[in-house]
Amino acid sequence: MLVVLTYTVESEPGEIFDIELDENLKRANDQIAEENQRLLQKHGVQAIDIMGSIGSGKTSLIEHLVRQLRDKYRIAAFKGDLTSRIDAERISGLGVQSVQINTGRECHLDANLVRKALAKIDLNTLDILFIENVGNLICPADFPLGSSKRIVVVSVTEGPYMVVKHPFIFAEADVAVINKIDLASQMNVDIRKLGNDVHTINAKTSVTFTNCRTGEGADKVCLALGLTPSS
Ligand code: MG
Ligand code: ZN
Repeated sequence: MLVVLTYTVESEPGEIFDIELDENLKRANDQIAEENQRLLQKHGVQAIDIMGSIGSGKTSLIEHLVRQLRDKYRIAAFKGDLTSRIDAERISGLGVQSVQINTGRECHLDANLVRKALAKIDLNTLDILFIENVGNLICPADFPLGSSKRIVVVSVTEGPYMVVKHPFIFAEADVAVINKIDLASQMNVDIRKLGNDVHTINAKTSVTFTNCRTGEGADKVCLALGLTPSS
């Protein structure tokens, strides 16, 4: 009988050929992120970073958050994507100022790109800035942008292991959004298990459940961010 052995190899620090793990690069990013944060705080702007895979529902979530908050707060949005402008156009359709940040081949936003986008808008006219990251849950964990809160979105259509497979991003999350809950039974995904997985990684993360097609749960996300939705 054939015996199937499963081996594990692990990378040692400094071993991976990956520019994203370059310590100097990370330090430079952290420094610009702190400058961004100071600039935003000086103008009283709360910046909220939204992360999640492509198709998880980041843009739809932002659309519903804007609808819930635009009567009470002045809002703008930055939309990170490789080359497309689809998301910025969706958000500006809601009457909210938006800046598309195209990263080319880079799979995440960095603090420098956010600094360039911040120079394009008048921070004196803002209360809230949503920053939608490129669709990816790995390297955004290593690239803070200067935001004051971070949201991570996972949808049930991505399967039952999205949280446990992304421990670093959930460790940083202030709010976890479990999206597409209307499809949970078809997908055979237990949304409470996903929520428990989040709390195993970070007990302080607020877990919310949404259907961003209809907007269900978006008010709970506002409350988890400490913002008041319109009733
Ligand atoms: Mg999007
Ligand atoms: Zn990346």
